[in-house]
Amino acid sequence: MAGIYELTEDQEMILAAVRDMAKDKIAPRSAEIDTENEYPWDIIELYRESQLLSMIIPEEYGGVGTGELTCCLVIEELAKVCANSAHALADHWLGLEPIILGGHEEVKQKFLPQLTTKLAAFALTETEAGSDISGIQTKAVMEGDNYIINGQKIFCTNGGTADFISVFIRTSADRNRGMSVCVVPKETPGFSVGKKEEQLGMRGTPAYELVFEDCQVPKENLIGQEGDGFKIALGVFDRSRPFDAILAVGISEGALQYAIDYAKERRQFGRPIAEFQGIQFMLADMAIQTEAARLLVYQAAALIDQGSSFISQFSSMANCFATDTGVKVTNDAMQILGGYGYIKDHPLEQKMRDARLLQIVEGTNQIQRVVVARSLLR
Ligand SMILES: Cc1cc2nc3c(=O)[nH]c(=O)nc-3n(C[C@H](O)[C@H](O)[C@H](O)COP(=O)(O)OP(=O)(O)OC[C@H]3O[C@@H](n4cnc5c(N)ncnc54)[C@H](O)[C@@H]3O)c2cc1C
Repeated sequence: MAGIYELTEDQEMILAAVRDMAKDKIAPRSAEIDTENEYPWDIIELYRESQLLSMIIPEEYGGVGTGELTCCLVIEELAKVCANSAHALADHWLGLEPIILGGHEEVKQKFLPQLTTKLAAFALTETEAGSDISGIQTKAVMEGDNYIINGQKIFCTNGGTADFISVFIRTSADRNRGMSVCVVPKETPGFSVGKKEEQLGMRGTPAYELVFEDCQVPKENLIGQEGDGFKIALGVFDRSRPFDAILAVGISEGALQYAIDYAKERRQFGRPIAEFQGIQFMLADMAIQTEAARLLVYQAAALIDQGSSFISQFSSMANCFATDTGVKVTNDAMQILGGYGYIKDHPLEQKMRDARLLQIVEGTNQIQRVVVARSLLR
């Protein structure tokens, strides 16, 4: 990475290893993961072996404890070759982030060491609570030493595969202050995994419905205090939105490189299509937008690592710009391949489908703009 963000020796080392793994073991699996529509367990095993699952977990709980920027660099490398593989990792981090951010010492000691090798998921969305997260209805009532949870979550990425799920629950009627969050281990009685969604893209990391029927969770699994759920959710989004943003940047970089290589090879009217100014300007715009997105995400990540008070604004700006760029660049790359861009012999139609999800999750791009505008007008 040239320019203002110089890599440390540690970052160089991590990236070199991730690049090799991405090229040799992950890239060859990308198309298959999409077609099979199955979770890529073999890739998760690679993450386990190379300690990527635990990158975000502080060292005192057995993790690697790298900062936000390093995590972003890793997701970017993975997303260049396989968006599904990058998404599986980013959403594992999303699932354990509530514990890191809001958990008291006991809950951190109980779950974080396990999550260095096991998988996490994040369950907030419900049928009546999407953008309006305080509308959640999944109810938790204290009985003895347990919460009894009843309700349903939808659209939970990694929901069918995670060992531990951070589940947002309603512990009182107050909209924001009645929200709490607890860890539900997958084998908990009363918890079950429902429908697997049939998705346009990111088909290797399907979202699931989760069902809670008199699900008994020990009160020690509560993250933070009762009523902390809303605050924790927003804090987690501030830190996880750059991951989706950099995922979009990585996809864009992969699509741009593919389009460049193709344009140099493909001949029409007796010359490579790369010689046509119409194609050159498209490639130039794609590069300009991708680089601008990349720097905005690095900026957001660096601010998070510095503990800045502008995190929300920059995370949402980065998320919104980078994910819009992801869709634009993959669409343009597809156009450069003409008819071949539309068929599955080339990876661009998949990259466009994968990129499209990122404008929706962890707050739609309308909600990202709401966050930015609120910060500006505060
Ligand atoms: C494949 C997939 C994976 C997902 N993974 C997870 C996960 O792991 N965990 C999880 O908890 N959730 C997950 N989600 C849910 C996702 O975060 C929500 O779908 C998203 O936040 C939007 O909520 P909604 O779908 O209910 O849309 P709605 O909130 O109903 O929005 C509908 C439309 O209205 C717009 N809108 C809403 N409010 C406003 C406003 N105030 N101003 C302007 N426009 C507005 C939205 O932008 C959108 O265009 C996933 C979703 C999908 C599709």
